[in-house]
Amino acid sequence: MISAFLILLLVWVCASLMLLLGFHGRTMRALWLEPTLGLPVVIVESDDWGVGPRSDAEMLARIAATLAGIRDAVGRAPVMTLGLVVGHPDGPAILASGLARYSRRLLDEPSFAPIVATMRAGCDAGVFALQWHGLEHCWPDSLVARARRSDELKRWLADPEARSEALPSALQSRWLDTSELPSRPLERSEIDGAVAEEAAVLARLFGRVPSVAVPNTFVWNDDVERAWCKAGVTCIVTPGRRFEGRDASGALAQFTRTLRNGDSSAGGAVYVVRDDYFEPNRGHRAEQVWQAVAKKRLLGRPALFETHRENFIAAPEAASAALAELERALRGLIERHPDLRFMSTAELADHLSDPASPMRERVVGARLQVFLRRIALEASCARLLKYSGLGLALRLLLWAPHSGIRV
Ligand SMILES: [Zn+2]
Repeated sequence: MISAFLILLLVWVCASLMLLLGFHGRTMRALWLEPTLGLPVVIVESDDWGVGPRSDAEMLARIAATLAGIRDAVGRAPVMTLGLVVGHPDGPAILASGLARYSRRLLDEPSFAPIVATMRAGCDAGVFALQWHGLEHCWPDSLVARARRSDELKRWLADPEARSEALPSALQSRWLDTSELPSRPLERSEIDGAVAEEAAVLARLFGRVPSVAVPNTFVWNDDVERAWCKAGVTCIVTPGRRFEGRDASGALAQFTRTLRNGDSSAGGAVYVVRDDYFEPNRGHRAEQVWQAVAKKRLLGRPALFETHRENFIAAPEAASAALAELERALRGLIERHPDLRFMSTAELADHLSDPASPMRERVVGARLQVFLRRIALEASCARLLKYSGLGLALRLLLWAPHSGIRV
């Protein structure tokens, strides 16, 4: 009786594993090959900094001072990346041309000098790291074409204090023609020209081109990657997927690729995955940050938290509350993970592409455990795991009672 049961169990396990390998073999291989970090890594990835009022410089200085007061076990302060948007449409000039010609303001104007100086000082102090986010947070021709038939966009252009965050979502994608929806891809020559122009402005402002790029709204394609890599980019920040278009409603079209930490791009850059979020003005709290890092640790993955300038340029009270919550989150992380490491995204990319990195887990047993957890939480395998019963078996095997999560 018992032996019959064991045989049945064995047949069930073998059949389920064969199904898993048959349907998801490529995914499982990718999950095994994705680098496993042996220590928790935390990076605060903040986007959209650039042209703005003088108060932005004051807020950046407060953020830098707060970060500099926090240290990990090896004495490193947390790094907040600054996704740079170094230009802004010059609305009054565009309107004065009768929407016939595009003009922009650049971050190298003297009035923006305090912002640039604060960014540079934060980089020197090791608390900021510059990332390439775009010359504008839009494709200029799309903005002008849409403004010709939109009073709302004409009002946006006329407002000297208008921020790119207030543009319609589809227009915030830089690497697309969104003058009509659904969007159309840009010509390769247009992309090459725009990337070269951006690289020149970034080099003029900061002495070099950032080695990390963050596509606006995570919409980009191979042509953009190749142009970035040619200009000096060696790492691309992604949400784990690549989007290449906008549908008729302006929403992101179905993603075209799944990306994992350490994968290589068409131009040879390393992808990193940023899929945790800390937007305090949208209700995210330190507790969620702690939970996310505990989970990422179990998966041997870094925790990259997406945040945006808009949290810190809000009304003074809300901006101060956002900064205080960031500090509480980071200090709480060090209490919970004394071995945690802060670093820039460029440094993380080096660890991901170097098999000899001291950050990488080498013990096969530990890697195997991480691998099984990754399978258990892989969305594309969820249905098969559920109906085969393998998911339940993995849960019983890997349940982590002290982590605050259950796989
Ligand atoms: Zn952005």
